[in-house]
Amino acid sequence: MHNSVSTGKANMDRLNLIFCAIVLELSKLTKEGVMKKWKCEVCGYIHDGDEVCDTCPKCGANSSQFTELDETATTLIERSRHTNALHAQLIDLARQIERVCEDGIKDALDPGCVTVFQKSLDASYIQMKLSMTEIQGHMAKGKWG
Ligand SMILES: [Zn+2]
Repeated sequence: MHNSVSTGKANMDRLNLIFCAIVLELSKLTKEGVMKKWKCEVCGYIHDGDEVCDTCPKCGANSSQFTELDETATTLIERSRHTNALHAQLIDLARQIERVCEDGIKDALDPGCVTVFQKSLDASYIQMKLSMTEIQGHMAKGKWG
């Protein structure tokens, strides 16, 4: 019993070290590796680059309509792009599961199958909405662009 507690604590220490290393790398990234970001005030498009673009690729507004984002806003966008892409993948996978389940329900080989497909359909619908809600929260907090 005492051994497993010690092992657990050693694992926690190791995890803390890894976590600190990740935070350190992220802080370096925000100071050196992150490109400047400019926001089109007409449509919200985010341009990445040392210089502002001539025209907005989304709405055609000229460079005077762009505002350079501060470090906090830039970091939020940079940090959230990968996670938002993962949520988009989860939503797509949930949609694929829904299509499989709908096919299975229509096929209706036996009541057991239909029950499994219906339960899986309900679960994947909730899964899809979980990720959508999270993305909606990200947008409201500037973790988007
Ligand atoms: Zn625009």
